[in-house]
Amino acid sequence: MACGLCLPTCPTYQRTADESESPRGRIALMRAVAAGQLKPSAVLKAHIDHCLGCQACEAACPSRVPYGVLLADARALLAAQPPRPRVYHTLLRATQSPRLLALAYDAARTGLARLLPGPLAALPALPPRPAYRRPRATAGNRPVSLFLGCTARLEGDTLAAAMTILRHHGFAVSIPRQQGCCGALARHAGDTGLGERQERRNRRAFADSAGPVIGLASGCTAQLHADRAHGRPRFPAAVLDIHRFLADELPAASWRLKSLPKTIAVHEPCSLRNALQSADSVYTLLRHIPDARIVSLPDNKTCCGGAGDYFLREPAMATALRTAKRSAIADIEADIVVSANIGCRLQMRLGETSPVPIIHPLVVLAGQLGEA
Ligand code: SF4
Ligand code: SF4
Repeated sequence: MACGLCLPTCPTYQRTADESESPRGRIALMRAVAAGQLKPSAVLKAHIDHCLGCQACEAACPSRVPYGVLLADARALLAAQPPRPRVYHTLLRATQSPRLLALAYDAARTGLARLLPGPLAALPALPPRPAYRRPRATAGNRPVSLFLGCTARLEGDTLAAAMTILRHHGFAVSIPRQQGCCGALARHAGDTGLGERQERRNRRAFADSAGPVIGLASGCTAQLHADRAHGRPRFPAAVLDIHRFLADELPAASWRLKSLPKTIAVHEPCSLRNALQSADSVYTLLRHIPDARIVSLPDNKTCCGGAGDYFLREPAMATALRTAKRSAIADIEADIVVSANIGCRLQMRLGETSPVPIIHPLVVLAGQLGEA
């Protein structure tokens, strides 16, 4: 099947008009390697590395070709062609510890990143890190477990908002201490061993979860789902994006939010839109806010260029996509932009102060809790 209907949706094909930079071309290259017609090589790896993994192609494919699964296998196969610089592997190891990742983030903010080799030296300024407080488990009627991953310390405001909302609605929230990174960054780098270790750690951590496991960052939640798509052992509980969970669980009347006469533009992360197919749940929740005008950020189908570690290793394409997203934000003249994934929010804020707050949807919702 090579109908080409996915081509117009692919950001790298849109910008290069090169078949090898399209989903159809990449699948053809993967097939040639699988058939022994092509040997794994640095050139081949470059075409796979340029892929954002946004899965816009998969969402558009009428034949339901599982591009995300194919890409993950290709990344693992080509990981050593040539290996990534040592500094990437050091960063990957940092994801084993949320505390270490936060320290690395703070160090990069001070300009230390400019001393590192490769594209890290050209990393644009990182936005400030919101204050973080380790949340405590809460009592309630309905049990849920919170998946924090490795990035919780980078988004203290999101975590605090999630806890406020879950507590307000009477959920009993447990936060297993032994959990860790979802493994997405390791999988992107083709580091199967590290990805599997992180997956096993999380399965153990959530083995006794009484209710569903809910994730705050759609990229992490999508990775936990991808593990299932690959036929790896099942996560012990249902894994849900928090917007999907709240939109399905809570009737509109239970929110009773304060008025917010502002325009809120919704950015749809590829992980929420294409992988989890839950972008609608963000709109559903925000529409509970009286007087708020909820709009879609133009060109939501196109990736912002964050894409895990993509913004670090493919800076030219990532910058072009970020610039396009910033133009969309400027054109729409919203008061607030929301995005359900930390990687996308960081990418859209990288390098300069945004004139508009770019925050997690739950931060807006938590701020409006109370009697209308
Ligand atoms: S995942 Fe995104 S960048 Fe990669 S081939 Fe598909 S549409 Fe193109
Ligand atoms: S991946 Fe799907 S949409 Fe793209 S060329 Fe193949 S069959 Fe067509």
